Amino acid sequence: MCCCDRVGSARLSPLKSTGTPPQTAADKALRRDLITWYLANRRDLPWRRTRDPYAIWLSEVMLQQTRVEAVLGYWERFLDALPTMEDLAAADEDLVVALWSGLGYYRRARALHAAAKIVVQELGGQLPRDQAGLQALPGFGPYTTGAVRSIAFGESAPLVDGNVARVFSRLFALEHQPASSQANRALWAAATRLVPSALPAAIRAKDKRSLASRDAAGAMSADHGPGTWNQALMELGATLCAPTRSTKSSSSGPCCGECPVQGHCAAFATGRTAELPLVKKAAPPVLVTLEVLVVETPDGLLMQRRSGEGRMANMWEFPTREVADDGGPPRLWPGCFEGAELDAIWDSAEPRPSQKHSITCHRITCQVRYFTAKTTDIGPNTPYDTVPRGHLAGSQGQSSPAPLPLTGLSAKILAVLD
Ligand code: SF4
Repeated sequence: MCCCDRVGSARLSPLKSTGTPPQTAADKALRRDLITWYLANRRDLPWRRTRDPYAIWLSEVMLQQTRVEAVLGYWERFLDALPTMEDLAAADEDLVVALWSGLGYYRRARALHAAAKIVVQELGGQLPRDQAGLQALPGFGPYTTGAVRSIAFGESAPLVDGNVARVFSRLFALEHQPASSQANRALWAAATRLVPSALPAAIRAKDKRSLASRDAAGAMSADHGPGTWNQALMELGATLCAPTRSTKSSSSGPCCGECPVQGHCAAFATGRTAELPLVKKAAPPVLVTLEVLVVETPDGLLMQRRSGEGRMANMWEFPTREVADDGGPPRLWPGCFEGAELDAIWDSAEPRPSQKHSITCHRITCQVRYFTAKTTDIGPNTPYDTVPRGHLAGSQGQSSPAPLPLTGLSAKILAVLD
């Protein structure tokens, strides 16, 4: 079973509306069958147990490009540390990014923080319910806007993410070039046509009875109709309507035999489930080799803070340099070894197994070298600080929030060292 939740939503955007065609009987039957399946089979996820728009918004931002299993612990730790919109707005950015450390795509965390400040300082602490109000906030693209409006507020708002795009492409046998304006138009038109304004009364009553008998605490709440439909689509894409099996993906392909909407699926009817959606030829990955030093001094680990511009801005990392295959200067992280006089203080070196790491299209092989230094006197011209190890508890799986945000690679290395 593949659980690639909210994949690729950033690339998909609605085009200008040209009017929504009326729903057909086939649309209504498709919706009834998918919602009925979803209500009986949905995963019991913690963000489905709340009606708090802030908590739902947070889950939707975290789930973009990230598997649901990875988000579970982060979402709970984030809300433990910053339980309300006001807490987030008042928090230091370092804490926000530290709570995100290991999830990647840190721009999302900064946009979330910036939006919370605007909501608290200018909007009385309430997220807007309307499209224009939400899209005026940092980080609210078409997907997040549709998700928050429909799931948190019950507004009849469509959404399209990578999972929904795959499901629609197969259901309606869409053969547009991936990421083209024609594909976008067709996907958003289908999403707009199909999103309901409310659940049919019979389904809603049945859902309430089912939840009451299944969950004595009544914790998993009955959804609004539009939110239920949108989550049903994404659930189908994340579980049964998985990407086509390939040598590069761990997906087992679509499970059409278990699919509740098989009878509505044009790709299944024509034997094209493996062909659709059409996929863009992936650019070859950029291979990068890094050397990372882990230097333990009497006062802590030698670390450096990345610049305030660009990727992973202001995050902390171990001294790192790219080993250029062509013998040229380092390309990704230049200037990390400005403190050349450091060589004088090493008193031991212990090689560690190489680490593999991926950032977008970069496939990184990382050689970690571990040193113990006799002194914290690391010279006047180095870009490094010594940081007590306990201040870097940002590795994935740690239970306490990290005071200093670590890059994903450094968090991974720290976790291996611990
Ligand atoms: S029948 Fe197969 S391809 Fe069609 S929607 Fe269901 S799982 Fe996806």
